[in-house]
Amino acid sequence: MRRHRVVVVGAGFSGLACALALDAAGAEVRVLEARDRVGGRTLSRPLPGGGWLDLGAQWIGPTQDRMYALVAAYGLTTFSSPAHGAAALLLGGRPAAGEPPGLSALLGTLDEMAGGLDPAAPWRAAEAARWDRITFGGWLDASAADPVTAGYAGRMLAGGLLAASPDEVSLLHMLFYLRSGGGTGSLLRMAGGAQQDRLVGGPAALAERMAAALPPGSLCLRAPADGVAQDGDGVRVRAGGETYRGDAVVVALAPTLAGRIRYDPPLPPLRDGLTQRMPMGVALKVHALYPEPFWRADGRSGVSTTDTGPLTETVDNSLPDAPGGVLTAFSYGAQARALRRLSEGARRDALCDALAAIFGPAAARPDDLVEYDWSADEWTRGCFCGVLPPGAWCAYGPELRTPVGRVHWAGTETATRWSGYLEGAVTAGERAAAEALAQLG
Ligand SMILES: Cc1cc2nc3c(=O)[nH]c(=O)nc-3n(C[C@H](O)[C@H](O)[C@H](O)COP(=O)(O)OP(=O)(O)OC[C@H]3O[C@@H](n4cnc5c(N)ncnc54)[C@H](O)[C@@H]3O)c2cc1C
Repeated sequence: MRRHRVVVVGAGFSGLACALALDAAGAEVRVLEARDRVGGRTLSRPLPGGGWLDLGAQWIGPTQDRMYALVAAYGLTTFSSPAHGAAALLLGGRPAAGEPPGLSALLGTLDEMAGGLDPAAPWRAAEAARWDRITFGGWLDASAADPVTAGYAGRMLAGGLLAASPDEVSLLHMLFYLRSGGGTGSLLRMAGGAQQDRLVGGPAALAERMAAALPPGSLCLRAPADGVAQDGDGVRVRAGGETYRGDAVVVALAPTLAGRIRYDPPLPPLRDGLTQRMPMGVALKVHALYPEPFWRADGRSGVSTTDTGPLTETVDNSLPDAPGGVLTAFSYGAQARALRRLSEGARRDALCDALAAIFGPAAARPDDLVEYDWSADEWTRGCFCGVLPPGAWCAYGPELRTPVGRVHWAGTETATRWSGYLEGAVTAGERAAAEALAQLG
């Protein structure tokens, strides 16, 4: 019997996991990747004195079972995020004695609302229409005990989780994301949460090992797919001037990138409408390199959160076995866009000033500031993931995963658990592989 042949577009974690699952099930796979590397939204850069920086994704945490299984299967190890010293909280530019008024109750309310959602069909929730009509920011303004609490929660949740401003995403999308990642505690915590562990060598090293396990010759780099045609006989994917034939195709891209491919016949209007409505978030993740982790001497953890200025949060990203100290700072949504509008020098000054405001003058003069602009990268166009504005879940949600004939959809955005994360990328890829095989019979 002839083996089924499946073309996979994209060699991020989702495309790689999909291709490996297809291969394991006996299908013939061809993976088409636009870049000259695999790993998508993961990227490592070696540090001059040893060690590496993760310019994209870096953490995994409890309940991300497929990621831990892959780490073990490919012979990699993890290490814990540093957990010593005190975290800093700045409100209105000043150190705060405690959390903003009513924050815990607000997070509890959100968890309760999210808990009743079916992450596979958020549009079916009894309150879905009401929750999808308003922005998360609008809900915070109406629900938080205090404007400071609303502002802080907006930055930590819409910013820290979706890399968006609270006014850019619908309340329903925020609730879907909370549900998908196991609630605010699971998503926000370092120990016991999504930021618990890092991979030795970074997730990019895992992607390379996964790619190396594919059958020889099945991965084509520098092969950006720009056309997908299907008919009763199969699919033809055009990439890098070549045409690749298969029985089915899995498009393992964020929806907005999937929407840039030309389809023949054209995608149904509702699926196309979804791709028009799911922009990527905007984040700036910048590593400040110092001769040593000076903040530890003051009993500080390097973790900080703030409701003012260009940064929303920082973490200590120093490596256990490498010299030097690394503070990694994050800016999201409106603040990240404002930083991007500055010249490189002015942005550097703004970042150093912001770090000094939190950690004192020693933070103002890093040896280097290292970042990667994911929004400027043609094959990602923003991060951490695609987000849905008001109205989109209810109008277009069912189109997110529904195959179009022989075209199947993967990518972390299509996951129901840990959507937006590496874990979601892997499970979405494996789900799409099973779906394509079931269709082919
Ligand atoms: C700065 C940053 C920090 C993050 N932090 C974390 C974290 O700590 N933990 C976590 O779990 N997640 C994190 N994420 C999110 C995580 O990186 C993503 O969820 C995950 O990598 C998505 O994988 P994917 O395979 O779905 O998509 P991608 O990684 O985007 O893969 C898609 C692939 O398709 C390729 N491609 C695009 N267009 C085409 C085309 N037309 N033809 C062929 N190939 C194409 C791309 O080059 C890419 O390789 C972070 C992301 C960023 C950017």
